[in-house]
Amino acid sequence: MRFDVECAMCMDENKENKVTFEVSNKSLYRVKCSEGHEYDHVLSVELFEMLYEVGIYALIDGYTREAVSSFATALERFHQYCFKFLSKYHSVPSAVLDGIWETMNRSSEQQAGAFHSLYMVTFKEEPPKIKGSKKQLRNDVIHYGKIPSQEQATNYAKFVFEYIRDILDKFSKYENFNVIRMSIMYDYFTSQQEFSTSSSRITMMGISLYGVVTEKDFNKSLDTMIQSNSRWIYT
Ligand SMILES: [Zn+2]
Repeated sequence: MRFDVECAMCMDENKENKVTFEVSNKSLYRVKCSEGHEYDHVLSVELFEMLYEVGIYALIDGYTREAVSSFATALERFHQYCFKFLSKYHSVPSAVLDGIWETMNRSSEQQAGAFHSLYMVTFKEEPPKIKGSKKQLRNDVIHYGKIPSQEQATNYAKFVFEYIRDILDKFSKYENFNVIRMSIMYDYFTSQQEFSTSSSRITMMGISLYGVVTEKDFNKSLDTMIQSNSRWIYT
């Protein structure tokens, strides 16, 4: 998957020029525009957000199976994010929570269970439930090769979006919400060996499912993405 951003150095010269780079799991990218400007670009985004974005691109292009698979993986990584968030909220050191996570690294059910327990302890209530029909669709797609319809994939996208949004809404009530978010992002950057730069110019772009970048209304968000990409094959 490739992202386009405006070249910051061309903008300095009052020119519009897009620079393209291929997205992977890392956060730091060396980019070079057609005018020869070369510098480092930081993608300030959590893994669950990037996976959701990948899902939206797949949905826009009509790859419904790949879309649902990406949304389901985004959900699992979101549980990891929540585990980190709530652990940090309870002042658990990063090394300790990483060690505990390592013991359940291969089981999404265990990971969800760990998140549910922390959520219960923190809020004294059950976390939002995931309907059996949503779990079934995820399993049918990932394990049995089901190719969902556009409507099924879009509904699944909506469910994951609203699940994530509602939980982040709850977290945001804490006054140190942004401090913890930044701390998790910092851990993510520093966990990447290649995250070092000697570039004299660094630019940054964020994708956020939550906050100022994205509408909190799913349908408006999807409409915005469809319009900006102009690649919605169903219209
Ligand atoms: Zn340039």
